[in-house]
Amino acid sequence: ELENQISRRKAFLGPSLSTHYHNPILVERGRGTFLIDFRDQAFLDFVNNPASLGHCHPHVVRAAAEQLAQLNTNTRYVYAELTDYAEQLTRLFPEKLHVCFFVNSGSEANDLALRIARAHTKAQDFIVMEGAYHGHTEELIKISPYKFDGKGGFPQPANVWKVPVPDMFRGDHRSDSNPARSYALHVKTALDKMKTSGKRPAAFICEGMLSTAGYHPLPPRYLKQVYELVREEGGVCISDEVQSGFGRAGEGKMWGFELGDAVPDIVTLGKPMGNGFPLAAVVTTKELAASFANGMEYFNTFGGSTAAMRVGQAVLEIRRKRDREEERRRAVGRHLKKELNKLRDRHECIGDVRGSGLFLGLEFVRDKSSCLPAPGLTTYVVEASRCRGLLLGSDGIHNNVLKIKPPLCLSRFPCLLLLLLLLPLPLLLLL
Ligand code: PMP
Repeated sequence: ELENQISRRKAFLGPSLSTHYHNPILVERGRGTFLIDFRDQAFLDFVNNPASLGHCHPHVVRAAAEQLAQLNTNTRYVYAELTDYAEQLTRLFPEKLHVCFFVNSGSEANDLALRIARAHTKAQDFIVMEGAYHGHTEELIKISPYKFDGKGGFPQPANVWKVPVPDMFRGDHRSDSNPARSYALHVKTALDKMKTSGKRPAAFICEGMLSTAGYHPLPPRYLKQVYELVREEGGVCISDEVQSGFGRAGEGKMWGFELGDAVPDIVTLGKPMGNGFPLAAVVTTKELAASFANGMEYFNTFGGSTAAMRVGQAVLEIRRKRDREEERRRAVGRHLKKELNKLRDRHECIGDVRGSGLFLGLEFVRDKSSCLPAPGLTTYVVEASRCRGLLLGSDGIHNNVLKIKPPLCLSRFPCLLLLLLLLPLPLLLLL
């Protein structure tokens, strides 16, 4: 059955569509923290962050089904679901972020964010983080060095300025007393070079918590300092919260940028927003929305559809109930990180454990003294976990960071399974 599916995929969908794992999973159902395959084997999902409330959450499914049965149309009609959801969503942000644009994917959200930044600043240049991924459109390919840097015929264009990841594990400034300032200086250098070449910044775009770049937490005050520098030169600050948004960062924070004590001008949202239903958004200030509206109508057939808005509301309804559970969720994230840190102390091959909430990265190295990345070992762990019914993934500039992003409803027991799997690592490596 699996082989048949794979050969038909190749035939009808072409070779560029990849799958997870050497031995891909033919999935049939999802329930809470589990994905279940066609043989009824359950896999603990530690990596799919759109299903942040758990797979196929019944309240969200019911809301979608009821709305689809009643009405699903576009924003050229007036309906309460749109304004109600926009109002509920903006309430989750600092006051100045007050206007929403609804789209269908994280890529669309980031693409629109760049357009808004350009319309507001009349500038064309962007500062991006090395190792970042912001989406797959023609514009976003250029600002996503993680996937597209010089690959597939997409060289970095001249209007994109890359700055190094604030890597506190092995980066240049790891032992500085003020790493935020040192890393922010890279942004200052990019801005200075821009000026010398007669250019101005349209925007600085960065995730609230870095994902593809290696799950590095941004040093405290980094975002604050960078935002100040960018704004001094007339640029706007975009926080891509497609991965880090909606409470993933833990610590009682809804958005990654809150960990940096900074307020962006534009926020982009996606993945967990509809718990798997295509729903994404740009949230920005009245001022930027006005610049964008100048001579340009915004319309998106499916963005802001009645069904998407109802799903978004259902997700927030559950979140509000779960907010009472916030303390439990925080405790699970802290417990997991603490136990992973104990493993790091025992195992020579675990160089670093970082992140917060249920957004954790575990970096594999050849040994602690050289800190040389161990991408082969990372792939081995991901594949071995899959064979034992636990779904993980890898990321980072050297592809040696195990990413851990389970649904937020995770309890302590599945954490134990992950820890048991990693415990005998040194023995496995001897085999
Ligand atoms: N931004 C970030 C940080 C992402 O991780 C992704 C997807 N992996 C996107 C944007 C693009 O989102 P989508 O795949 O929904 O277009």
